[in-house]
Amino acid sequence: MTLNELLQLLIVAADDVGRVFDYAEIRTWPPGALDQFRRLRLLRASSAGLMAPCPNCLDAHTEMVTVLDGPDGTRRYFIPCPESLRVEVTAEMCCGWQVDLDALASLIAVSIGLHGAKAVVPGRLWRLGRTKWKDGTRQVLFATRLIDDDASSVVCHVGTHGRDIVLVPHHVPDDRLWPQRVPPVIALSQIASLDANGFALDIAAMAEAVAETDRLNSAKHAIGTDRAGRRILQRAVKAEIKSLVADDALVAAYKQRGSYRKAAEFLSEQTKTNVTKDVVRRAVQRHGGVKEVMQTHDTPSVSRTVASHQRDRATKMSQYGKRPH
Ligand SMILES: [Zn+2]
Repeated sequence: MTLNELLQLLIVAADDVGRVFDYAEIRTWPPGALDQFRRLRLLRASSAGLMAPCPNCLDAHTEMVTVLDGPDGTRRYFIPCPESLRVEVTAEMCCGWQVDLDALASLIAVSIGLHGAKAVVPGRLWRLGRTKWKDGTRQVLFATRLIDDDASSVVCHVGTHGRDIVLVPHHVPDDRLWPQRVPPVIALSQIASLDANGFALDIAAMAEAVAETDRLNSAKHAIGTDRAGRRILQRAVKAEIKSLVADDALVAAYKQRGSYRKAAEFLSEQTKTNVTKDVVRRAVQRHGGVKEVMQTHDTPSVSRTVASHQRDRATKMSQYGKRPH
């Protein structure tokens, strides 16, 4: 396991509740790794009760440590063991390590050029300050466990305008967590690494992620994503089509071209707008349907035919009337 793989492990653990790395786990780490993470303050001694893995058993079962002060003043540590009943362990074996979330928040702040982290919700949310962004500034926050059930009580401290930049250890919550605009949420596991200078963030990747969320937000909120928003949009589009191509023009095009499809194609071409054949069909129906549309108005031949029919009928009627019995 490399140091960067270990860093990933710690970052993911920062999204867990009370994850403790014990001696059994830490002794599988590369030499010096624990010291390095302690120097960064990323790991601190666990405040939970002392636990130690059994040095005698293959499965290294982990047990609660009993501390005994010997008569000579030395402190000795023991764990219970089903094989050996009681096994002495070293002090080093008893120590568990936890990710220091306050220190992690500070490391993040420093690596993006901010001064420090201020806890808003202890253990869950930190304010890291404002960073320059294009022509303004944006608040940066660090939050943990945003996929937990109580996450909404944490994110209520985040701005609803979608401008705050939220860093999380690993788990990016569902968009539905955010009551209004979804802010950029960036997982440290995607952008954090250890380099020669220590803890570092890929600022370019972070900026790209923020820009991407901004793009999505502006597209989404330009058209409205909820049901009401979609209906408003549909009405607006319909009104737009209507104003571009008034019913009369639709009907005229239908009469001229002879089919809904051909009329729609013609109008789309003329107006540089997508006019569907359904739009044409509905306009024709509003005007009384195909027969009515083809009979009315200005087609001289059609008018004459109708008129002559009427005259013929009148003539026939008069002939019936005159017909002698
Ligand atoms: Zn044992």
